[in-house]
Amino acid sequence: MTAAARSLTDGIALPTYADVETAAKRIAGVAHRTPALTSRTANERTGANLVFKAENLQRMGAFKFRGAFNAISALSPDQKRAGVVTFSSGNHAQAIALSGKLIGVPTVILMPQDAPAAKVAATRGYGAEVVLFDRYSQDRDALGRELAQSRGLTLIPPYDHPDVIAGQGTATRELIEEAGPLDMLLVPLGGGGLISGALLAAKALNPGCKVYGVEPEAGNDGQQSLRKGEIVRIDVPKTIADGAQTAFLGNYTFPIIRDLVEDIVTVPDAALIAAMRFFAERMKLVVEPTGCLAAAAAFTGAVPVEGKRVGVIISGGNVDLASFARFVGEGA
Ligand SMILES: *Cc1c(COP(=O)(O)O)cnc(C)c1O
Repeated sequence: MTAAARSLTDGIALPTYADVETAAKRIAGVAHRTPALTSRTANERTGANLVFKAENLQRMGAFKFRGAFNAISALSPDQKRAGVVTFSSGNHAQAIALSGKLIGVPTVILMPQDAPAAKVAATRGYGAEVVLFDRYSQDRDALGRELAQSRGLTLIPPYDHPDVIAGQGTATRELIEEAGPLDMLLVPLGGGGLISGALLAAKALNPGCKVYGVEPEAGNDGQQSLRKGEIVRIDVPKTIADGAQTAFLGNYTFPIIRDLVEDIVTVPDAALIAAMRFFAERMKLVVEPTGCLAAAAAFTGAVPVEGKRVGVIISGGNVDLASFARFVGEGA
């Protein structure tokens, strides 16, 4: 277990690659070792040698299972008995719910009242207690902390947590183990848990690998933060990349990104739809819009990949079928 959360002004203990190794041991045999896939068509289109890490095929459909399972595994017996709480309407909620079920830890998920019924049902289906709140009148962070205190629960946030970051790093560890040294690695960026873990793993195993974060054009708070040298907050961005609709980086993720990332680039939503269609048509993969961020950066040239050996993380595949049909049908 890494140091507990203290405020940035106290100086926080950031996770290291050793924590990624610990996480890899904890998730072994539970998380899927997802495949590293290649596509001749993708290589022809980009002039690069691309290796896709298919986390859309991970348990519950996204890499978030890695971080959630690692963070719950790291709790003390007392903390496990009392249970955990988180706030999310997306993949982290399901990752916590499933991990709690597998480890035998009660889970409480705070979800907005207007979250899609299917998501609420799916989260309950994994055995979590769902507490609904009004996102227009209630502050979910405060609510989460209150609930944690009154019921003795441990709060596990979606990205700004050392064990969550370490767990997410296992995806990159596996990719480099399997694919060998890379010139570059492209990673979807929301709150920065996935890329922080990727940076720890890449810099330890493959120091020459340049790691790029990819954000939706409408929500480039990470890019602004990198340029400014401090965490920049934006309004919740309007984008189809709902897994990257974060408004700010975290106190753990920002310093790791600031110190180790090569650059942060953006792609428009239209490029995400084009990549979704490519994955469906050519690679027979269902990928959610957020899961397409990194690939879209290669396809649009937002990162110059020509002539390089490039890892591309496909971060998730959770998209309801009606939306999927609408997206891949566009421009067909
Ligand atoms: C959460 C999520 C992201 C962003 O991850 P962060 O750790 O918040 O940067 C990207 N893709 C998918 C599918 C996600 O669920």
